[in-house]
Amino acid sequence: MIVMKFGGTSVQDATAINQVAEIVKSKIKLSPVVVVSAMSKVTDALLRIAQTAHDRDYEETKRIIRELCERHVQTARELLAQANAPNAPTKLQEVEQEIHQYFADLDNLARSVATLGELTPRSKDAIVSFGERLSSLIIAATFQAQGINAELVDARDFLITDNHFTCAAPRMDATEARTRTTLLPILNAGRVAVAQGFIGATLEGVTTTIGRGGSDYSAAIIGAALNATAIEIWTDVDGLLTCDPRVVPEARRIRVISFAEAAELSFFGAKVLHPSTVLPAVEKKIPVQIFNTKNPASEGTLILAEAPPSRNLIKAIAFKRGVTVVNVNSTRMLLAHGFLRGIFDVFAKHQTSVDVVTTSEVSVSMTLDSTDRLAAIKRDLSAIGEVNSENEKAIVCVVGDNLKFTPGVAARLFQAISNFNIHMISQGASEINLTFVVENRDVEKVVRQLHQEFFAEVDSTVFE
Ligand code: ADP
Ligand code: ASP
Ligand code: MG
Repeated sequence: MIVMKFGGTSVQDATAINQVAEIVKSKIKLSPVVVVSAMSKVTDALLRIAQTAHDRDYEETKRIIRELCERHVQTARELLAQANAPNAPTKLQEVEQEIHQYFADLDNLARSVATLGELTPRSKDAIVSFGERLSSLIIAATFQAQGINAELVDARDFLITDNHFTCAAPRMDATEARTRTTLLPILNAGRVAVAQGFIGATLEGVTTTIGRGGSDYSAAIIGAALNATAIEIWTDVDGLLTCDPRVVPEARRIRVISFAEAAELSFFGAKVLHPSTVLPAVEKKIPVQIFNTKNPASEGTLILAEAPPSRNLIKAIAFKRGVTVVNVNSTRMLLAHGFLRGIFDVFAKHQTSVDVVTTSEVSVSMTLDSTDRLAAIKRDLSAIGEVNSENEKAIVCVVGDNLKFTPGVAARLFQAISNFNIHMISQGASEINLTFVVENRDVEKVVRQLHQEFFAEVDSTVFE
């Protein structure tokens, strides 16, 4: 069997969903489990509903709910009114009723947030979960109307997580067992299972989500639990590219890349793949493939345990904007044991993760991607040393197996961008990435100059 995950833009409207149905039909012999995201921008809109309800701006809450409801009903009508299956009209009625029921539930939730004046992470998750629940409802009905023997499954029945609402961690043992008992009978009966990405539930059955962009991760978890032969991530670009095409339009498609390289890229900002996705796949050595829903003929990108050698020094460039750097200076204590631990305990306490770390004789610098707890972190760190922070920074990361073996890469890299101010520099412990920090305002120019330097010519066995 295979897992096929379709992202937000791949299910953004009726045309896109029809395209998804065609792609699934073409793979039906491989016994697909289909994992879907919310329709594009819906998760953001649901988060706005949560926020406006909390702010007691109920007019705005109602307006967004109405808009979302219309979009889903309209999409269902376009898909099911046109499907020429004899039972399509009844199906449409049922689906419309369910959509209205979902929006009534959502409205109730938003009202209770407004009444209580309190928005907990738990209620946030309950609210955002509607995005995937709605899209999967419409998609499963479309499949059925088009003659695909499909069954809608609630991911909360098998994706079991802890209770860290908004970024819950899957409990792998329970999830694996339940995924098998829930999905295998459906597959064994020759049916296509359709499930939501991104959402799960605690053991007690309370709805959770596994972090923004988490549907990729859901797909990988399901693939690992079922020992899938492949995990396919269907998105809106031809595959993993040498850089984000929105910044470097001439970015090239990477034909094949290693798990380790893909993990570094996604960790440092290549949004095309959720950073946790490759972990379950690596453990079971299941290949991950990235494909373009709008261009299914493209071969995409294959992510494998080992990638073939490439004549290019690097595979890709990733970047992350809006990063804050925190510096801790202490002349006395840096070399004392327990000093770094003290610093990291502060970050652990505030549940904030650090991406890049550099140290000198008298200081430690760290980048954070969330500044939600910055003030409290700085307060706690000031007990350890002198603390300051700088925002408006960006991380740039170049990745490639060849960085391990090739002398002179750093010299060539920094020469190519010698007109910019570089802050922290770190050669990742994995030895396949080189990461540094620049000003936010420079990041696009830096990335384009690097792309020009390293990808003006490409090895056609690895890149297209
Ligand atoms: P989905 O909704 O399908 O999950 P995302 O928006 O999360 O899609 O990810 C796809 C986007 O990732 C692309 O549209 C592209 O702009 C961006 N992206 C960033 N870096 C890369 C890269 N190196 N290769 C391909 N896409 C990238
Ligand atoms: N819908 C969720 C998000 O927008 C999850 C996903 O699309 O992967 O973050
Ligand atoms: Mg995504």
